Amino acid sequence: MKTKEITRLLPASFFLAVAMTIFVIVSQASAAQPLRVVTTLSTFADLVKQVGGDDVEVAYVAPPKFNPHFIEARPSDVLKIKKADLFVHAGLDLEAWRDPLLDAAGNPNAFPGQSGSLDLSKGIALLEVPDKPLNRLMGDIHLYGNPHYWLDPENGRLMAKTICDKLCEMDPAHCDPYHARLESFLKKLDQKETEWKPLLAVLHGKELLAYHNEWPYLASYAGFETRQFLEPKPGIPPSPKQLAFLQNYIAQKQIKAIIQPTYYPKDNSGRLAQRTGARLVVICQNVGELPQASDYLLMIDYDLRQIAATMEAKP
Ligand SMILES: [Zn+2]
Repeated sequence: MKTKEITRLLPASFFLAVAMTIFVIVSQASAAQPLRVVTTLSTFADLVKQVGGDDVEVAYVAPPKFNPHFIEARPSDVLKIKKADLFVHAGLDLEAWRDPLLDAAGNPNAFPGQSGSLDLSKGIALLEVPDKPLNRLMGDIHLYGNPHYWLDPENGRLMAKTICDKLCEMDPAHCDPYHARLESFLKKLDQKETEWKPLLAVLHGKELLAYHNEWPYLASYAGFETRQFLEPKPGIPPSPKQLAFLQNYIAQKQIKAIIQPTYYPKDNSGRLAQRTGARLVVICQNVGELPQASDYLLMIDYDLRQIAATMEAKP
């Protein structure tokens, strides 16, 4: 039998059924396609995942065991951003490598101000905003205010909401599940904040020393302070003069802890701790930096517990 004859024998309803099946398969395929999100930091990727769940596919550029200010992006990062629907970043000058990476990827939607770009500093009350413009030649790398704002869990709350709004805007079909996951994250945060109250009581009014000036947001949340740093200016390595000054400062102020993330060298801070009796406390700046900090809330939890335990430790 020739094809023409078979076609003539088949009822019109058959073709309609075939057409309907193809339509359903195609529309299901496009509906199931998750939104492709690339973030600069692992912490932002975790927050996107908390809100986006299986409706998003998330990757990050900066490995958490490296200083987020200075990252060498790989060719695979360029490719990821080229294909991304959404690029999420810290804004300000946190990622000194962000603009060259965006230029290399050439994704027109991912450039600042475009629909596929989300600056998480939006709506955050920034700390340490300089009253006069700074110049990078002066050595500073926090030119527009302190960019490490994600370490205040109240800012985590705002960032999760900002992410939810953006996902809803880009993918309205999944807005209900985005909102449901946001609510569940905020509820967990509320529970954690109740657990953290006794830790905040321990930390209240304490002064700590830090390697880099990256803790003012966690400090303002928890009630402690960091006024002096191993780096004489953010991004400038410790000098002998600075270390000599700090040795006296720690003794004078009876400072009990020197805090730093995993990726700064521990020789100078370790020596300073040994000479003064302060303790060196290694905590996390980003999700995944240590196994204990495997998500955003666990990271904040780990940091607060580590510092509080040092404050309570016997000399
Ligand atoms: Zn910094």
